[in-house]
Amino acid sequence: MLSIDKKRKLTFKCSRCLTTKADKLAWFQSDSNMWADSLLCRICFNEAFNLLTTKEKMTWGFYASKK
Ligand SMILES: [Zn+2]
Repeated sequence: MLSIDKKRKLTFKCSRCLTTKADKLAWFQSDSNMWADSLLCRICFNEAFNLLTTKEKMTWGFYASKK
């Protein structure tokens, strides 16, 4: 039987710069980016986002709504 502790706090650590101080981390999803499926802080998220193709950027609601 699996024992899963639901109260266990996740460690919010940026996958790229490894900061644990960021107040917000975002799950970065992409098919091609090297930071795909990583939890990134705001700064790293923006940098990873900028590496995406326009087509990929358009799959993100906040980007598409700016157009
Ligand atoms: Zn970071």
